[in-house]
This record gives sequence, structure tokens and C-alpha cells, in this order.
Amino acid sequence: MLLRDIGEFGFIERIAGRVARAGAAAHDPRIVLGIGDDAALLDLEGPDLVAVTTDAMLQDRHFRLDWLTPEEVGWRAASGAISDLAAMGASPAAVFCSVGLPPDWPVEDADALLAGVASACEATGASLTGGDVISSDRVLIDIMAIGLVPRGRQLTRHAAAAGELLAVTGALGAPAAAVSALEALGPGALAEHAAIRSRFAHPEPRVAAGSAIADSGLAAAAIDISDGLVQDAAHIAERSKLRAVIEAERVPIAEGCEALARALDVDPLLWALSGGEDFELLVAVDEADLAALQALPEVAAIGLTVVGRLEAGEGAVALDAGGGEIALPRGGWDHFAGQG
Ligand SMILES: [Mg+2]
Repeated sequence: MLLRDIGEFGFIERIAGRVARAGAAAHDPRIVLGIGDDAALLDLEGPDLVAVTTDAMLQDRHFRLDWLTPEEVGWRAASGAISDLAAMGASPAAVFCSVGLPPDWPVEDADALLAGVASACEATGASLTGGDVISSDRVLIDIMAIGLVPRGRQLTRHAAAAGELLAVTGALGAPAAAVSALEALGPGALAEHAAIRSRFAHPEPRVAAGSAIADSGLAAAAIDISDGLVQDAAHIAERSKLRAVIEAERVPIAEGCEALARALDVDPLLWALSGGEDFELLVAVDEADLAALQALPEVAAIGLTVVGRLEAGEGAVALDAGGGEIALPRGGWDHFAGQG
């Protein structure tokens, strides 16, 4: 049997089995939350829990250097990991960046890659603290991000309850729109689409909103949108043993998507439902707490829109205005099996 036969998630399940066995054997009370969420949570006996996450990106698999500058690659890699901290409600503290670089790569490009990582750290209050360098035939960037969340205020995937609403920050679809345009029209495709390009190249992880939501105690379950809205809703549903229902007509679509979709003759809704890498937050909230959550200044600044609900059952679906299920390309990327 090959890795492609079981797929990325199949392999992660095998890792999870090994991690769970090791944890059970050790009875380690310092591991509050292990594998299976946006970040692990450690209790190191301080006033806060420590959130830890890692994210690796490989040239021509996760990014293309004819689509993004080295600075943008660095920014996106760091922002993706920091977004996982935001999804836990954690404030970023330290970021470690390991890179694999070809020996014949220009020093200026390597400097720019690191400058992008450093800028993303600075923008979110994290300190770029260390890392490692190896030689590699393609550019590889591996980020470890460490943050702090007040004990008992952490946002997790498993804490949602039946009947809660699902609400998303900001608007969705721009990064998927960017990739569609770049694939269809080549590297110059976004020259006239500054808003889309900016959201693709310089995503802003929702650190301030995540922390404010956690501190407020108004919500307990969240995830960041990295695989696509419906698939990430499915992750919350699975961990909370519920079913997620997304009402497609309520989903906020990012500025510039409609125009680009017309140019490419596609439906922008599919970018918003299944595109991914939006790095917005999807939050489960009781209807009685929704207005207070939306009124938090850090949340009001970017908007929080109800897009669906959680109910008894399993899985996740997107429904059109008539209640019919929208067929989606299987969301997300499987690193061993490829795009479904
Ligand atoms: Mg995530």
C-alpha cells in the first residue's frame, strides 16, 4: 500500500493513533489538547495555556514563484501558521522558521523570504525567534508558531453545541479566485485585480478577533478557513459530533470576486464555499450571544456574518436558497492523493 492509497488524512489518522497511544501511556496532564485541532494546547503551569502549531510549504506544491514574490511566500507561510493560533483564540508569541533553499538561489530572494516572515510576525505581535536552514532542490518553508490563550478561554473544534449558529469573519473566495485566474490566464492575470491579489498575497490572520472572541467567553468553538468553508465547517462538525449546514446565499463573497468570476465565466460562490486559504475565522455561537459577539470592536472591524448552523447528525452540506444541496468539488487538498 502506498501513501497515495490512504491519502493525507489517512496518514494523519495513523500519526494520531501513535500520538494518542504515547499520550495515554505517559498520562501526561500537560497535554490539554493533542492532534486534531488547529493547534495543540499545553499546560505548562503558567496563567495561560500554550498553543503550538506547525505548517510546512513546498515550492510548486503550495506556492509558485512565478505567482508570488519571495517576500509574499514568506508572509503567507507565517500568516498561515499564525492563523491557526488565531483559530484557538491564542495571541502569537514566538515564531520559528526553518527553510530549505537551493544553493544557487539569489541571496536577495532569501533575504526577501525572511523579510516576509518577519513582517507577518511583526504585524501580529509575534517575535521571529529562530529556525533552521538546510539546502534543498526546491524552496521549503516550515513555520512553528507558539501563542498564549487564557486558561479556559481557548477556542477548539470540539466545543460546538447543536443549535448554535455558524458565523464567519470578513468575506471569502479571494484566494481561490486568484488561483483560478492565475491558472487560466497566467502570471499577469491579477494585474487589474488589486483587491484579489492583495488578499491572496498578503492574507491577514484574524489574531485580534480570535483573541477578543476567546476573551469574551461568548463562543467556545472556532476554526480558521484554510481548506474551504464547507470542509472547515465539517471539521468542527466532526469534532463536535454534529452536522453543519451552510446556507450559501448568506455567505459573504470577497470584493472583486464577482468581476473576476464574470471574466472567467465561473460561479464565485464556489470559490467562497470550497476555495480555502481565506484565513478568516468560522465561529460557532449561540443565537442569544450573536449580537454581543458581533459588537466586539475587534470583530466589528472585520464583520461577522451568520452563514449556517449546527444540528444533530454528521457531515457538512451547503444548501441553495431553495434548500437543495450544492454539489461541491471535494474540498481541500490531499497532499498524497492530490485534488479530489
Ligand atoms: Mg487551521
